[in-house]
Amino acid sequence: MPLSRFTTIGTGGLAQYLAEPNEELALQTMLQWAEQEQLAIAVIGLGSNLLPADTGFAGLVLRLDGALAAIEVTETGVIAGGGATLATVVRKVGDAGLAGFEFACAIPGTIGGAVRMNAGAYGRECKDVLVGVTICSANGIRRAHADELALTYRHSNLKPGEIVTQAELALAPGDPAGIKALVREYQDRRSAAQPRKARTFGSVFKNPAGEQTSGQILEACGLKGYTVGGARISEKHANFIENFADATSADVLALMVEARRRAREQFGVELEHEVQTLGDIVIPPA
Ligand SMILES: Cc1cc2nc3c(=O)[nH]c(=O)nc-3n(C[C@H](O)[C@H](O)[C@H](O)COP(=O)(O)OP(=O)(O)OC[C@H]3O[C@@H](n4cnc5c(N)ncnc54)[C@H](O)[C@@H]3O)c2cc1C
Repeated sequence: MPLSRFTTIGTGGLAQYLAEPNEELALQTMLQWAEQEQLAIAVIGLGSNLLPADTGFAGLVLRLDGALAAIEVTETGVIAGGGATLATVVRKVGDAGLAGFEFACAIPGTIGGAVRMNAGAYGRECKDVLVGVTICSANGIRRAHADELALTYRHSNLKPGEIVTQAELALAPGDPAGIKALVREYQDRRSAAQPRKARTFGSVFKNPAGEQTSGQILEACGLKGYTVGGARISEKHANFIENFADATSADVLALMVEARRRAREQFGVELEHEVQTLGDIVIPPA
């Protein structure tokens, strides 16, 4: 199965094995099998921050489904499966009058991906609401408090093969109409600032320390509209790469390398990529 079908950028070659476990026991059985077979393991959510190699992934790719994507709203927050989509969680907690997770409305990922990436927007991030997680790996199941995950800007200490199967978020009481209004406001702000219909993986690079964002630096480098093969740097936001015509991951990678080179040469800034890679693909230094 080509990974391009499971990434928002729409690139990536074949996964050697792809499985969609729908409960913890099935997941554990798959992980143990992969270990016996000495296969590499990767978990993907909605593939919204992922650049898989054009040569694919030699190993087992897992996507969480069923009970591993279930959502239970509680009086003080939510317990959600790693495969639950952020959009559904945002809607359910909003309907229940629980505030504090609105920032996630425009992040097209899953709970597991959001924990792994410490996803955030509008001055808030996963870390602000995360109480703890359940992590499943070939070594078994463990629970971890949020503090143990070393969550910083778009970073956690979760390793490949460590799968977040459940997360608990603590939220505050709020007015459902007010929550809905804030979600709508965030979504409108997104549509105004970023390409929403194009195939992208969100921000390519993290924002560097200092005044300027990666988008501003890359725009000042004259990169808007710069094209390699079927991929181009967005005209709307220079820190986004769009797959506009059957791009390959190699096309995307070439744009990233050029962007980093120019940012370094013109601004002396070393841009660090936010997007995660899968398989035999290396983002070389500028
Ligand atoms: C249009 C657009 C806008 C975006 N805006 C934002 C934004 O505002 N803020 C932001 O932070 N990000 C943003 N992103 C990036 C992306 O949505 C987030 O990083 C999101 O958290 C990725 O979630 P995912 O489930 O799709 O993970 P994937 O992209 O599938 O995977 C990303 C990483 O998480 C790991 N992972 C996935 N699931 C699990 C799991 N269950 N357990 C352990 N590890 C897991 C993967 O192995 C991989 O390393 C945007 C992306 C797009 C396309």
